[in-house]
Amino acid sequence: MAAKDDSRTQDMAPRETAGATPMMAQYLGIKAEHADALLFYRMGDFYELFFEDAEVAAAALDIALTKRGKHLGEDIAMCGVPVHSAEAYLHTLIRKGHRVAVCEQTEDPAEAKKRGSKSVVRREVVRLVTPGTLTEDRLLEARAANYLAAWASLRGEGALAWAELSTGEIGVMAVAEAELGPALARLAPSEVLANEAVIAAPAEEEAGAQEARRALIATLESAGGVLTAQPRSTFDSAGAEARLARLYGVKTLEGFGSFTRPELSALGAVAAYLELTQRGALPRLKPPVRETAAGAMRLDAATRRNLELMRSLSGGRDGSLLAAVDRTRTGPGARLLAARLAAPLTDPAGIAARHDAVDWLMAEPRRRETLAEALAGVPDIERALSRLALGRGGPRDLAALRDGLAAGARIAGALGGEAPEEIAAAARALEGHDALTDLLTTALVESPPLMAREGGFVAEGYDEALDDARALSREGRGVIARLQAEFAAETGVESLKVKHNNVLGYFVETTARHGEAMLAHERADGSRFVHRQTMANAMRFGTAALSDIEGRIVNAGARALEIEAAVFDRLLAAIMSAHGEIAEAARALAALDVAAGSAALAAEADWTRPRIDGSRAFVIEGGRHPVVEQALRRQGASFVPNDAELSAEADGPAPIWLVTGPNMAGKSTFLRQNALLAILAQAGLFVPARAAHIGIVDQVFSRVGAADDLAAGRSTFMVEMVETAAILNQAGPRTLVILDEIGRGTATWDGLSIAWATLEHLHDANRCRGLFATHYHELTALTGRLAQLRPATVAVREWEGEVVFLHELRPGAADRSYGVQVARLAGLPAAVVARAKAVLEKLEAAERGDRVPDLLDGLPLFQQAAAEAPPMAAPAPGARRLTDRLAEIEPDLVTPREALDLLYELKRLTDEE
Ligand code: ATP
Repeated sequence: MAAKDDSRTQDMAPRETAGATPMMAQYLGIKAEHADALLFYRMGDFYELFFEDAEVAAAALDIALTKRGKHLGEDIAMCGVPVHSAEAYLHTLIRKGHRVAVCEQTEDPAEAKKRGSKSVVRREVVRLVTPGTLTEDRLLEARAANYLAAWASLRGEGALAWAELSTGEIGVMAVAEAELGPALARLAPSEVLANEAVIAAPAEEEAGAQEARRALIATLESAGGVLTAQPRSTFDSAGAEARLARLYGVKTLEGFGSFTRPELSALGAVAAYLELTQRGALPRLKPPVRETAAGAMRLDAATRRNLELMRSLSGGRDGSLLAAVDRTRTGPGARLLAARLAAPLTDPAGIAARHDAVDWLMAEPRRRETLAEALAGVPDIERALSRLALGRGGPRDLAALRDGLAAGARIAGALGGEAPEEIAAAARALEGHDALTDLLTTALVESPPLMAREGGFVAEGYDEALDDARALSREGRGVIARLQAEFAAETGVESLKVKHNNVLGYFVETTARHGEAMLAHERADGSRFVHRQTMANAMRFGTAALSDIEGRIVNAGARALEIEAAVFDRLLAAIMSAHGEIAEAARALAALDVAAGSAALAAEADWTRPRIDGSRAFVIEGGRHPVVEQALRRQGASFVPNDAELSAEADGPAPIWLVTGPNMAGKSTFLRQNALLAILAQAGLFVPARAAHIGIVDQVFSRVGAADDLAAGRSTFMVEMVETAAILNQAGPRTLVILDEIGRGTATWDGLSIAWATLEHLHDANRCRGLFATHYHELTALTGRLAQLRPATVAVREWEGEVVFLHELRPGAADRSYGVQVARLAGLPAAVVARAKAVLEKLEAAERGDRVPDLLDGLPLFQQAAAEAPPMAAPAPGARRLTDRLAEIEPDLVTPREALDLLYELKRLTDEE
């Protein structure tokens, strides 16, 4: 059962089958087993949907809803999609959050007939299509991964397993419930499986338990995937081993290493779900990889969103870090880059290996360019291989492997030289596929068709028997054409046609009018025009020549298809026996693509190799924000680089920069750019800076004050506090924290107090490296108390009453915010700006004269200021003339209420005149 919103498929109570037609009874029986999915019921060339399914699908697909007879007196709503274009419809339904059960005819209608004229063709659900289990190219984004995840917990220990069906990846990781959010955020799965017993509401539940369960559901849904509840048995860790063994076709799992009970439970749930959704065709997966959370930089969902790693805040890929740094040429390369950015490493050696590869390609522009050119257009062999392994592949997938492996061999040959290990390993993985490539090259035509069943993909000259059968079939078609011409000449019936059907085989057909003339040509030996059938408007005749050729042609065509199918199976077997090596080659191509793309980017945008080690250093010289810099460059502007220095000793508090500065000065940009630099560096890319030295960062937290999360039912300030709490509870000495205007969402003094206490805690207890931007200039007072708190400000210059943004970080604190000037730049009405200036002056005067808390008495001041505001001019006695009155009005100063009164007054004046 899937947890869904109202727009998605609803579970329906099974319908009564008694009294139904045999076909409807079959339909209802199958539907009852798939209550939570839309049932695509195969009828000839269509998949039909009935009842509520039809209503839901017709609305979702915007197709016509029709009726098909009655069931127990009720109209049967129906809609259908043609089989040949079903993928496009599936795509829409899956995207809209539905699940689809595809039910095929699993026997020949002729077989069913043998059981009696009323018997229904046997049908079975052959696949359950769900968001997390897609493999078709058209249903997937070429440059993004599509994960299915499963979360299991046993006695307080949790594990998260995931699978990528289109590439055969499968992995598992021990994850405590508190860590689940970041782990899911990294994968961004499109579907998450969870134990029904854990997430479904029991009949009675205590308030505390209910809150915990809801929080878990919110976390499971936080990464945006569909949450699918599965029965408790799916998560049974004892049964999991058997299921996994079945999935891998092995007797024991020992060869894969050892797994904890929760890990087995999560992996077992994935295996069970694959059995459920893929039916007979169990996918061929790579051995499960056991990951530890410690191996990757921890980035929770809010941080990823906030830093716009994969998507911009507006939801698209454009404007994200990924879009800014992606120079890959292939789908697998793009997916690998996204995976690396989603999980930056925490092991300096692993990072160095990636940097070495980029460095090596940077050093020789020719080499880099040749590699990039060679990679362009290399097919996605990762997904082609996986489709073949699932029995869903076609001749084009074979050709993709042929072309991909051949390109790989050329690339490996061109790499040569003293390459660093990552490149050398890739080159090794790309070699040694010649025999398979040769086999595929000789066996396949250049551009094969999509489907194997229609044939035409095996090359001429590959299989003698096939060539013979094809020649015969071709020749047969020629013979038929010749015979038709011959018969027409002989009888003078120009319009006669030689046709074929399953009952008569080949026959001559004429209109009824010409039929009589044909009968005149009948010969007793059967060689000419033996009458076979009279139709309403046509007559059909047989001849000896046609019967003779019948056997040869029909058999030759069928035989050719049979041989091609056998060739397909042979090629498939050859590929499957090299599955592991091909998967390695696919990974190697992706890794080279990422390295070449990173090197191209580094060369083009002047990025440098960061120094990464186990220290707690954080020195950035001339750092830039990768996305903002690109945006500015497009506008012909340049980015002002800035330094950051947050290096700490092995123990003790680490530096935190307290960044103040006017609005629009560039505080947020500076904060984010440093977090992004750490992420890029540890993902194995170069960084936009003159120089960078980063001691491994184990987690990055990024928060911006006052971001609404209304969908989750939390107010602005609540979100801010929940997120701040998460940081204060989790940040450690290796963490990098960037906090942007925390405390902004509440009253000034509450906010300042919270920001104050947060800063103290980060410095004294968390001891993390940090950047803290604020408009509370009062916080600079803390620099006296917190040894590692360093004030920094973004410089502006005032020129003729205007602010000029320099975007330059300097030590020290800002003297003021220039908020009023920025408001003017934003186009606030002049009167409001003037008024704000006046109020600000009074507030500042009050602040200078008094101790800070006296500002709390600011209310009378506002009221007083309001009283002093230029009053709305009262109607001048005697000023009766409309134009005078109009001239007096200052629209900027009129309240809505006054405007209405004015309107009445003006109306009155007009009437009087
Ligand atoms: P606020 O306090 O209003 O949130 P802010 O100080 O956080 O403002 P940002 O949002 O970081 O300011 O920056 C405002 C704009 O200034 C950015 O959109 C960018 O175009 C420009 N900018 C920021 N930093 C730089 C820089 N280093 N070089 C050039 N332009 C910059």
